[in-house]
Amino acid sequence: MTRILRLAIPNKGRLRETTASLLSDAGLDFEQSDRTLSVSVRNVDLDLLFVRTEDIAELVADGTADLGITGQDLLAEDGKNLPVLAELGFGHCRLVAAVPKASAAEKLKDLNGLRVATAHPNATRRIFDDRGIEAEIVTLRGSVEVAPKLGVADAIVDLVSTGSTMLVNGLRQIDTILTSQAVLVGSPAALATRSAETDTVVTALTAVTQGRRKRYLLLNAPASSVSRIQQIIPGLGAPTVVPLADNQMVAVHSVVDAGSIWNLLPDLKAAGARDILVLRIEQLIP
Ligand code: AMP
Repeated sequence: MTRILRLAIPNKGRLRETTASLLSDAGLDFEQSDRTLSVSVRNVDLDLLFVRTEDIAELVADGTADLGITGQDLLAEDGKNLPVLAELGFGHCRLVAAVPKASAAEKLKDLNGLRVATAHPNATRRIFDDRGIEAEIVTLRGSVEVAPKLGVADAIVDLVSTGSTMLVNGLRQIDTILTSQAVLVGSPAALATRSAETDTVVTALTAVTQGRRKRYLLLNAPASSVSRIQQIIPGLGAPTVVPLADNQMVAVHSVVDAGSIWNLLPDLKAAGARDILVLRIEQLIP
């Protein structure tokens, strides 16, 4: 008998809560626990494995888990080249090379011959090799940003989201060598033999991530403004136009990029739109 599909997710750290809310928003009903290694999702044939974020790529690569949620930086570090099934739109960060403020180094090339401390030695070495930089990589588990102060390294390669930790530690960023966000990855074996089941999970999670990037826009407008409004709204296909009881007026429904709303509003108002509602979309399945 084939076992239930397994999805490995972070049991602690930065990606833990955001991953759990993605799964809940996708409608998965499960108990979140710090203590258990795995739980069964109540309403779907899926087991969740709660594991360390940095172990997820390995567990998916060796088939212990069929699917996993992890950061692209960790995938790059692991070097397993797992298929990425979806970018999940959270856990955004950058792997950045930085030097003490007083350093003479201005660009990545200037790190040639220097000592570079990082918790991402494999990714750093690979990217440096690609760019022809020969540096001595000093592997540290944590507190990478204090390495130059301690005299352990001349520069660092570390993850940042805002960059404020680097500033506080007197460091100056010289280059971003990788950008990262959380992704859903799959084991090649599961993708080959259980594609219908893995597709269901991919569809459920991308429905949420796609929905989060969009807004449902409703507005009323004079019927005579419809073509102008249609030109303003770069909708998902054509907008829906519904006549109102007052037949001089229509309601226009559309789906637009969440980030574009504030730029659209002045033009829509100028075109005669009013009673504008902007709603979140829980799930979007194109
Ligand atoms: P953690 O388990 O807290 O060490 O973080 C796991 C993952 O969170 C990292 O590998 C990144 O993919 C992601 N992440 C997002 N923002 C940051 C950040 N500012 N610093 C470190 N990791 C981050």
